[in-house]
Amino acid sequence: MLEVENLVQEFRREFEAIKNLEQWIQARDRYLSRERGLLTRALRSIGRLPPEERPQVGKRLNEVKEQIEALLEQRLSELKAQMTAAQLERQRVDITLPGYQYPLGMRHPLQQVREEFERIFVRMGFMVMEGPEVEEDYYNFEALNIPANHPARADQDTFYITTSLLLRTHTSPVQVRAMEKLQPPVRIVCPGRVFRRDAPDATHSPMFHQIEGLVVDEGITMGDLKGTLEFFLREAFGSEIRVRFRPGYFQFVEPGAEVDISCIFCGGNACRMCKQSGWIEILGAGMVHPNVFRFVKYDPNKYTGFAWGMGIERVAQLKYGIDDIRLFFENDLRFLRQFN
Ligand SMILES: [Zn+2]
Repeated sequence: MLEVENLVQEFRREFEAIKNLEQWIQARDRYLSRERGLLTRALRSIGRLPPEERPQVGKRLNEVKEQIEALLEQRLSELKAQMTAAQLERQRVDITLPGYQYPLGMRHPLQQVREEFERIFVRMGFMVMEGPEVEEDYYNFEALNIPANHPARADQDTFYITTSLLLRTHTSPVQVRAMEKLQPPVRIVCPGRVFRRDAPDATHSPMFHQIEGLVVDEGITMGDLKGTLEFFLREAFGSEIRVRFRPGYFQFVEPGAEVDISCIFCGGNACRMCKQSGWIEILGAGMVHPNVFRFVKYDPNKYTGFAWGMGIERVAQLKYGIDDIRLFFENDLRFLRQFN
């Protein structure tokens, strides 16, 4: 029994001295190792004691073993907690240091106008659709009632890639592609890039953007066209503007209309921006020509529809008072940052 108590004393001293994981492992092995542990050996040596001492010593040794195991377990958790705390301390982040400023991008003014218009039409139940910029002659001209040798093809001064492949001159081919895929009722807006063979100057660019729309259903009238576009234009340019429809000619509509809004700069009186007329031309529209329906196999006796199209650059120029279209494409950050 004296030896057992000596062992306990010895363990107590060593246990107090455990400061790290290595020392802990040493202590565990020294007392509890299955081969050479001091307690293991003490338990094995019980057999050499006089029989009457064996139960008492055995009982005490088992108590001691349980205590030692419990103490070691507890110290192990403490050591782990200390190590975690030490690691956190080493990895401490100084949140008072000044941060690094990442340069933030922003939407291009043309993108802002495009998204604003899309949102207005989506709220009215329209779907946004896009199509290829390299387009077939058929979709860009023929299916839009502009046959070969029609003078409109020369007017538009097209970039041809082959005799039947070209850079689209308007977003209207998307309307044809949409009608081939969808059955009425159709309500779509088609934004995108278009190309014309124009030398760049303050008002021309060989590449610019359009947004077009198309509605097809039974019983659609010019009244629907006027109501839809008036609502859109008031949402886009302010509820106080007035809208005017004038006769216009486009091959794929009949009748066609040029649509003006009262000048947003002078309120419809007269100024330099509206060339003293009080009106600003904003888009072209009309009732879809029956020939266009025949190309996409819609029955023109059953369905009617209307379409319109407008230039995004032109609107952005009006909205932000920009007098040179080239500014949109020069990527001068001093210009672009003004629209943040
Ligand atoms: Zn004006």
